[in-house]
This record gives sequence, C-alpha cells and structure tokens, in this order.
Amino acid sequence: MNLGIDDIRAARQRIRGRIRQTPMLRDEMLSAGLGTPVLLKCEHLQDTGSFKLRGATNALLSLPPEALARGVVTASTGNHGRALAHAAHALGVPATVCLSRLVPANKVAAVRQLGAEVRIIGESQDEAMAEVARLVRDKGMTQIPPFDDPAIVAGQGTLGIEIVEQVADLDAVLVPLSGGGLAAGIALAVRALAPQARIVGLSMEGGAVMAASIAAGHPVELAETASLADSLGGGIGLGNRVTFALCRDLLDEVILVPEDRIADGLRHLGRLGHVVEGAAAVGIAALLSGAFRPSGPTVALLSGANIDPGLHARIMAGANRVEPA
Ligand SMILES: *Cc1c(COP(=O)(O)O)cnc(C)c1O
Repeated sequence: MNLGIDDIRAARQRIRGRIRQTPMLRDEMLSAGLGTPVLLKCEHLQDTGSFKLRGATNALLSLPPEALARGVVTASTGNHGRALAHAAHALGVPATVCLSRLVPANKVAAVRQLGAEVRIIGESQDEAMAEVARLVRDKGMTQIPPFDDPAIVAGQGTLGIEIVEQVADLDAVLVPLSGGGLAAGIALAVRALAPQARIVGLSMEGGAVMAASIAAGHPVELAETASLADSLGGGIGLGNRVTFALCRDLLDEVILVPEDRIADGLRHLGRLGHVVEGAAAVGIAALLSGAFRPSGPTVALLSGANIDPGLHARIMAGANRVEPA
C-alpha cells in the first residue's frame, strides 16, 4: 500500500476551508489524577458531529466530474453516511445512503435532513453493502466506502497532522477503532511527524472485528452485538485492501473496553460538558480504568457526538449499557 504522509498533506490542502480545525482541550481532572497531561481532541465538534467529514470530503474532491454527476452511494453505520450527505450537498452532488435497520433513528433522520436519499436495507452492514453494489452496477453511481479506501484514510489522517501540531512532546494517541480508516490515517501521519508517539486502537469488547483480525493474521467476521459504541460496529470486509494491513503494521496496541467502562467514560466527559457518543468515550474509558497507563502527553480522540439524547440521559443517570437491565 503506497499511502504516506504526502497523501495526507495533499488531502489537507484539498479539504481546507470545508472542514473545521477542532480544538485540543486539556482534561484537568484526568491530568491531575494520572500525573501527565491528558488532552481531548474535540472532533465531536466537527460539522456533522464526527471526523468522517474529513474522509468523505477528500474522497469526493478526488473524483472526476463525470463520476460526481452520476452520484455517489455508501453503506454506513450512520456517521459516514451523514458526512457524505453533507459533503455531497456542499458540492452539489447527488448522494444515496444505504443503512441497516440497526442504525439508530436519530442518525437516519439526520442523513435525510441533509438531502440524501436514504434506503433502509437488511439487518447488517453486509446487506446494506449488497444494495450499494447493485446501485453501482445498475445506475453507474460511485461507491464511497466508510473506511477501506486510500482517499478516506488520507482524509482521516489530516487529524494526525493537527494533533502533532497541537501537542508538544506527544507520547500517545488513543484512537477509536472499527474499520480502521481513522486509526490507519492517524498512525501514518503521526509515525511520520512524531515517531516517538504510541498509537493505540480502542474497540468495544463485543464484536471488535479489527482486533480479532489482527490476532488471526487475516480479516475475519464476527457477529454484530449491541454496544454503547454503535459507531464501532460492523466488519472490516474479508477482502479488505487498505486498512487491515495498515492497522496491523502501525498500531502499537489494541485495547478492548467493556460496556460499563464506556459508560464511565461517557459520564466523565458529560460532567466536563462534552456530549459525545459511546465510540468517542473508549479512550477516556481506558484511562479511567487503568487499561491504558500514560507515560507522557496523551491525546484521547473524541471522534463523534451523535448519541441518542435519551440514551445519553440514561447513562448520565447511572445506566451502564444500551438496554435497560
Ligand atoms: C466511524 C467512527 C469510528 C471508527 O472509525 P473507523 O475508520 O471505522 O475505524 C469511531 N468513532 C466514530 C464516532 C465513528 O463515526
């Protein structure tokens, strides 16, 4: 895979002015408790509520005009679809988003509001992806995948450049991990610009497909289970072309976080005034529980904000999982 820091720098130029540079805030409570700076990269404040706008915007701006005119399509657990709808709308490109029935209602509504056509298909990411393949074949649309694509990885990697610019003596970056576009892009950038820093991927305990794939030495499939970190669900594709090898080669460690620890992370961040989704709380969860012990300035990437408000309220009131016990 010939993807490197130059591609990420080019992506940064391409998407400049179309995405927001998000703030880096020091978590005073955790920094004091752990004796080393803990910094929150507030990407939940990105337009559309997640970092996925970076990759989607870079992917669209990398396509020829004929392809854009026929329209773009994706299957997504929500945030990528939302980002693609927003990016396509901003560029005047027709977008179709295929979602499985597992995707929360607030995410579906948000995609529709952004002007994309939404198709609800099947019970899994795989079934939604089959519908994407049909639209590509029959209508000549271009698929914009959520992670396994060089332009997506390069777009997400722009976060790595920002992190290195915002934090002196960077020692570790805690990155939520699902399909691995985010972790691969950040790892590529940080390896090139701050080679001393450790890159740690974090997933929920149930259905952590990238972690299982790295352990097996090849992409595997796992059953999807309900998690507070719903944006970390879904497979990596048995035919994964880009992100599996990058995550296998570039991540120093992968940590799996139990549901009740994710809830702790959400409550900690909520008390600081950061309403984030479960996927965004895994790094803080690992710091709070001691599963990751920092030894220098550590960045926890808050990757998204799109949590159902009722669920967030139940977690703040003490619930520890998606379903009431
Ligand atoms: C998509 C997503 C992730 C995981 O990104 P991958 O590139 O699939 O690993 C993490 N957090 C949020 C909020 C997301 O939307």
